[in-house]
Amino acid sequence: MKRLIPLATTLTLFGSWLGPQPLGAQTTPASVVVDPPMDKQFPPGLAMFTVPSHGADLDSWLYLASGAGPHGTVILPHGLPGYEMSGDLAQSIRRAGWNVLLFHYRGTWGVGGVFSQSSAIEDAAEVVRFLRDPANAAKYRADPKRLVLIGHSFGGFIAAYEASHDPDIKAVAMIAAVNLGRINADPKEREARLKRWETQLHPVRGATASELLAEAERHAKDWDYVQWAEALRTRPVLLVEADDQNHADMEALASALRQKSALGLEQIAVPTDHSFSDHRIALQSIVVSWLEKLETSEIQSPKERSTRTKVVLLGTGTPVPDPDRSGPATAIVVDDRAYLIDFGPGVVRRAEAAALKREIPAVEPGNLKVAFVTHLHSDHTAGYSDLILGGWTSGRTVPLEVYGPTGLQSMTEHILQAYRIDIETRTNPDGNQRRFPEGSKVNAHEIKSGVIYKDEKVTVTAFATKHAMESYGYRFETPDRTIVISGDTNPVEETIKACNGCDVLIHEAQPLELLAKMPESMRAFDAKYHTTTEQLADLATKAKPKLLVIYHTVSFPTGIAPPRLIQPKAGADALYASPEMLQKELSSRYSGHFVIGRDLDVY
Ligand SMILES: [Zn+2]
Ligand SMILES: [Zn+2]
Repeated sequence: MKRLIPLATTLTLFGSWLGPQPLGAQTTPASVVVDPPMDKQFPPGLAMFTVPSHGADLDSWLYLASGAGPHGTVILPHGLPGYEMSGDLAQSIRRAGWNVLLFHYRGTWGVGGVFSQSSAIEDAAEVVRFLRDPANAAKYRADPKRLVLIGHSFGGFIAAYEASHDPDIKAVAMIAAVNLGRINADPKEREARLKRWETQLHPVRGATASELLAEAERHAKDWDYVQWAEALRTRPVLLVEADDQNHADMEALASALRQKSALGLEQIAVPTDHSFSDHRIALQSIVVSWLEKLETSEIQSPKERSTRTKVVLLGTGTPVPDPDRSGPATAIVVDDRAYLIDFGPGVVRRAEAAALKREIPAVEPGNLKVAFVTHLHSDHTAGYSDLILGGWTSGRTVPLEVYGPTGLQSMTEHILQAYRIDIETRTNPDGNQRRFPEGSKVNAHEIKSGVIYKDEKVTVTAFATKHAMESYGYRFETPDRTIVISGDTNPVEETIKACNGCDVLIHEAQPLELLAKMPESMRAFDAKYHTTTEQLADLATKAKPKLLVIYHTVSFPTGIAPPRLIQPKAGADALYASPEMLQKELSSRYSGHFVIGRDLDVY
């Protein structure tokens, strides 16, 4: 049971939301201020033990959560030297139903061995290994698949290091984390730290302040946490900043994560000191709210997703020949079956890439048997011949079934006619595909709005959208999810109705900042037939998807010159729609969870 207690004062605590996704600061989770109900069979407890790490025994203790579990378990690596153990945070997290493990690093607080930053990194990995041991997991009612690292200061660095090097860590929270890779970068800052550390290292054995700084210097490259954005981008990351020396580094990491369209970034700035001395309740509220969201979140790595239905973005591009964004193509995969929506240029190669890199064999080109097209613009259909013929030569033995607007049949006949010589050659007595000529055939179905396809895995409903030609969006209902895809369109009421609280809405969007730089003719076309970020924010607020995925954003990356027809007002590079631009425009207007899709993302 989760109770929320309104706490009026927190509203004023959060002066500066920097992040795109506010955490709902107007409430304090009950577990911050209310004890859990008694559980006589599985009471909470305190377990004390040591974790072996490279010859030392790390003093460790675990606040065991109430209830049978298995409980998600938070590892809370402490700062340096560790006067602030964040015990209050640990207790709130336990009341929220999580186990919390605390430990001392080698060479600190009487633990054997000698301290170094490298050895602390190793210690954290050993603690993770300890919790994954099935015997320990059973003993402490812990779920080894739900390990989360939360660290403050040096502990935040350790948490991020461990999470970025271990893809099976579920999520990470960094609280005013020090960036060891950059602590020597600014001589003045370095001096300030050195002075402070020199007086604080009494509980630390075997390392002086200047030795620690020298060690960090040797690791300047591999200990710069901004570089870990790629490794962390697919998992929930919480960044809680204070007004301290680490603020700029935390900002840099947030920015790097946004650049990479991180799937689950929460960033919050709290106006307080490095220890959060006057904001401990706020800190607990932020962390516990975030943990509660993890349990329900759509943000899951594809690997751990237990759902039967996956959305695989094969191509998120537009007519712009952007090498990083293939032509529009999306696969909805239910168990071993794939359903393709649109087949822009590159679709077959991206499908193979998804099969290999994302380990989704259902999207191997030979397995693509059912496709839907939103409209007949070339950026959505230029991969059609490849889908027909490449799918066939990759092993499809049955005709391709394709559904779409008027004109689809004619397009299909003409493509088959254009490739007559190829098809005849491949099916003649010498031909490699002679044993399965059926695979070269296509059944093209021209559709109207309504239910247009149904099998035991999915029901597909088409709805009319508003584009420069006949066009449709599609709603997919599978045994466990509902997914809606817009295609190219002006905002329409039908999309809102089709989604209506759906699991995933995949929708196009064009940033206002970019549109402002477009020539008038382009702007007029977009205003009629596409959707601005502002319009999408409105639409999604009404449609209420659990996850909004943005795709099909017109953008000319640096170096790819716009054609002369659409010369921008402010120079050749001005028509690049960066992920940050989209992020900013949408997050200022939309409070739901959204991501900016990239090719080969899986949701
Ligand atoms: Zn398009
Ligand atoms: Zn179009």
